[in-house]
Order: sequence, then structure tokens, then C-alpha cells
Amino acid sequence: MRDLNRFWHSLERVSGLQAIPAFWAEYAGPHFELLRPHLCATDIVGGLYPCPHPSPGHCPRRIVDYGDGNYAALCRDPYKVCPDVPLQARDVVVQELNIGGITRTFAAALGLRWQPPVPRGDCTWAIGISLRQETRGLPVFLLVLPATPRFRAAMERLLLDVSGPFVIVAPTNSHRSVEVQEHVQRRGLAFLAIEDHVGLADDGQFAALNSPADPDRPMPTPVADRPRAVKEFTVRHKCKVKDIQVAAGEDEADYYKWLHGKLPDHYSTCIAIERVLRDGLGNGKPQRSAS
Ligand SMILES: [Zn+2]
Repeated sequence: MRDLNRFWHSLERVSGLQAIPAFWAEYAGPHFELLRPHLCATDIVGGLYPCPHPSPGHCPRRIVDYGDGNYAALCRDPYKVCPDVPLQARDVVVQELNIGGITRTFAAALGLRWQPPVPRGDCTWAIGISLRQETRGLPVFLLVLPATPRFRAAMERLLLDVSGPFVIVAPTNSHRSVEVQEHVQRRGLAFLAIEDHVGLADDGQFAALNSPADPDRPMPTPVADRPRAVKEFTVRHKCKVKDIQVAAGEDEADYYKWLHGKLPDHYSTCIAIERVLRDGLGNGKPQRSAS
């Protein structure tokens, strides 16, 4: 099981869920193939093409039409830092994400009785009824928006429209500000970030990630406090840092990513290390040779 954080973040980077394939591919990275079946061609020709070295004000590259179905992306930086790219019609047609198609594929993993999405405002859709234990029977609304002010406005519109509690689903936690959380608590709403709940199974299908509400899950140590926590642990257990890595079943590189806060706290690496710090060397994953 792998998490799909970058993939879910990509949905919130594309305004209006419309972009040429190169932008979708750049944002979704290694998981672009999950997106591709749900992209539908529009009759709009895009104006911009991603740049490898974007400079403010000049890049990204502008798409020019040479006629006869030939196009090119030209860097607008005065020093031409990005090479020109010859393009064909299929590269410049704006593709729109089919919300019905993609929500249907991850509805079961999210715990949702899916219905064909009904638009409810700015990139907001009613997408079904919750089957999750804590919110069973509540209507579920999906909000896919790039900017927090737009997200808040869309959420406030829903609060006026819908009289009872409901579930807000967003691809990520990016817009979960204090103000949003206050609304959630005041109205007894639930906020589900898809990135916390839906990952990729080994068969390439969307699948439910372990619930972050797992009561056994250790609290993450604040990044600034991690060196001290590790030091204290090694003194208390008379062990080396290496023993923590071994007990967690993680290699040195991943250990340092955790130490420096380079991985999200819900990644399995972080959870395994935090669990060792909380429970001691004997309670991590099965131990390897050392100790
Ligand atoms: Zn450029």
C-alpha cells in the first residue's frame, strides 16, 4: 500500500480542473496514469506549457500555433532558459478532469455510497452518502479548489444551503485552516482529506489507507524536538540511533528524513519510528539482527 499525496495535491493545483496534458503530468508525477483515463478533451486550446526552470513573469512557455496542426511551446524568458518544444494538436488541447469518473473509482476506499456528481457551486459537487461509521448517512460534498479563500467561500455557501450536518471531502488538508476547522466544529461537520484515506494498493487500484484515527497510532514528535527525543531515548535505553532504525525496520536515509521532518507524519516510516520511541526497541516491527 502506498500513499498518493502528490497525486491528490495535483488535483488542487489545476484551476477549474482544466489543463493541457503536460500540466496534469507534471503535477501528478509518477501517478499520472491514474489520472489519464479520467481526462476528457475540451475544445479549448491551451496558451501555456510548463517550463523546467520557471522564472517569474516570463515562464511558463507560451504555445504558438503554426497552422496545419503544428504548434510549439516557446520560453518567454529573455535568456531562453527553457528549450522550445514542438507540439501537436493532442498536446495543446485542454483536458478536463471527469469528476464522476474519478470519484467513482475511489468511492469504496473512502467509505462512500457514490452517486453521479451534482454541481453545487464553485468546483463543489454532491457525490454521495457516507457509509463511514462516524458519519453514516450524511450527505458528502467534494470541494476541489486551488486557493483557500475560494475553498472557504464554497464551504460557507454549503453551510447556508444545507441545514444539517454533512461531510466535506477535499483532496488534501491544504485548506484546513483554523477558520475552516471552526466551521467544522461549530456545525458538527466532518472533514475528510482524501490523501489521509485513499492510497494505492499493490494491484494498482485505489484502496483505503489505515485510518489516521487509529487509536494505537503514536502522536508525532514535533520536528524541532526530535533530536532531543532521540537523545533521551538512547540514554534511557542505553542504545544507539542505529538500534532505533533497526527496531523500526527503516533504513538510515528514511530515518533522517523523519528526523528532519521531510516526510508527512502519517507515512509508515514516521509511524514506525514514533512507535519505537513510544514503546521501546522491542515493540516495533520484527527486529533484525542487531540489539
Ligand atoms: Zn521557461
